[in-house]
Amino acid sequence: MRASLKNSKRIVVKVGTSTLMYPNGNVNLRTIEKLAMVLSDLCNEGKEVVLVSSGAIGVGCHKLQLPERPTTIPEQQAIAAVGQSELMHIYSKFFGEYGHTVGQVLLTRDVIDYPISRKNVINTFNMLIEKGIVPIVNENDTVAIEEIEHLTKFGDNDRLSAIVLEVIQADLLIMLSDIDGFYDSNPNEFPDSTMFTEINQITPELQALAGGKGSAFGTGGMFTKLAAAEKVLKNGGKMVLTNGNNPSVIFDIINGDAVGTLFATKQLVKGENRI
Ligand code: ADP
Repeated sequence: MRASLKNSKRIVVKVGTSTLMYPNGNVNLRTIEKLAMVLSDLCNEGKEVVLVSSGAIGVGCHKLQLPERPTTIPEQQAIAAVGQSELMHIYSKFFGEYGHTVGQVLLTRDVIDYPISRKNVINTFNMLIEKGIVPIVNENDTVAIEEIEHLTKFGDNDRLSAIVLEVIQADLLIMLSDIDGFYDSNPNEFPDSTMFTEINQITPELQALAGGKGSAFGTGGMFTKLAAAEKVLKNGGKMVLTNGNNPSVIFDIINGDAVGTLFATKQLVKGENRI
């Protein structure tokens, strides 16, 4: 099953705030630079790469030297506006070092839900990829809010990355987090937890192991990662969840090495009994 990852052509990589920022609230330039190098090299190899990046509010707080994340929506949206452009500046600089151009794609849910704008989004992605530009995607945090009648928020970037995989018909979603994979309980609370190396189906039993919220910076925890995995499997894709502290792990994943947790529907081998 892992060996087939070598054939992945179109790859979505999702990176969480906890990978991009140090726990003290500063930007982790070392990891971001490595990520830019790895993704640039994959493009050089002929792969098509899309990056879904969180971090706008975290980077905005850092840029504005705020001691903590503000609580009101207008403040958060203003900080996201600052952080998003700062984040793109950092990506543009590092990707540029490796000879690659990035393009910012900010999405809201209504744009994906409405068929005409959805088609337009698909065309934009395809054109960026065709031109060898790396799309860097985020929710448009500056305008998206929770409304009952007009849905603009995706909820979280885990789900957004699975939606991007669906929209652009990618083969593989690599989800980089602050944890090595999906465990049978939260390893930060239970040191004896065991990691799943492969999951073929998202069941209520697995969802029950996902625990509540995630790290101090992260928002989704494992629940949203399982929701993303479910969508990926439904779309015939594969997902690998692993730790983003060393982005070179992306090379290992695509090489078929046993890294993190692989979510993939079981392929029936010829002659195997069907259920
Ligand atoms: P990110 O910022 O990368 O999106 P999150 O902080 O939202 O990541 O989620 C990762 C966190 O989820 C882990 O650090 C861990 O504390 C927590 N977690 C809860 N349950 C589990 C589990 N079963 N397996 C792994 N991690 C878990």
